[in-house]
Amino acid sequence: MESNSFDHLELKFALLPKGTASVPGAHLLKFSVLINGINISPENVIDLSELIASLKSSGSFNIVTCVCGEAGCIGESQGVSVNHGLSTIVWNMPDKIVYNSSLPTNANLSLSKIKQFEFDSAQVILSVKNALFDAKIMLDKNEQAIQLEPFGFVRKQLHYLSDSI
Ligand SMILES: [Zn+2]
Repeated sequence: MESNSFDHLELKFALLPKGTASVPGAHLLKFSVLINGINISPENVIDLSELIASLKSSGSFNIVTCVCGEAGCIGESQGVSVNHGLSTIVWNMPDKIVYNSSLPTNANLSLSKIKQFEFDSAQVILSVKNALFDAKIMLDKNEQAIQLEPFGFVRKQLHYLSDSI
């Protein structure tokens, strides 16, 4: 493998229309992580606190979680194993996160195998930093009720995380 053939990670966000949030009348701010263009978990929630923590140290992180904030709810308690090299970040994650579907959790678990992705640290950090910065600007300009995920995550935390990168 060429040393420059890194996988590509992107953090994106979208402001979804009213009716998509559990809070009546609120819009939903939905974050997604795409690896090589594929949303790793379209049906679940990205835990930004865990994602940002994973940029700073190696370990196991529940980057994909349930809307309630408990990764165990959706069978993701294993999390993503993250290892930092000199200029790389390697993710080992259960394949079921990538292909999460409406299958029952047990069926997902039995299909589980580990997939490895190697990212350029600078690319990952820049993408996350830019997405959080843009989301922060959008929230500051927007007067409407906007619900963040997972449940209980608030604007102030997003500001804090954005400033911490
Ligand atoms: Zn839950």
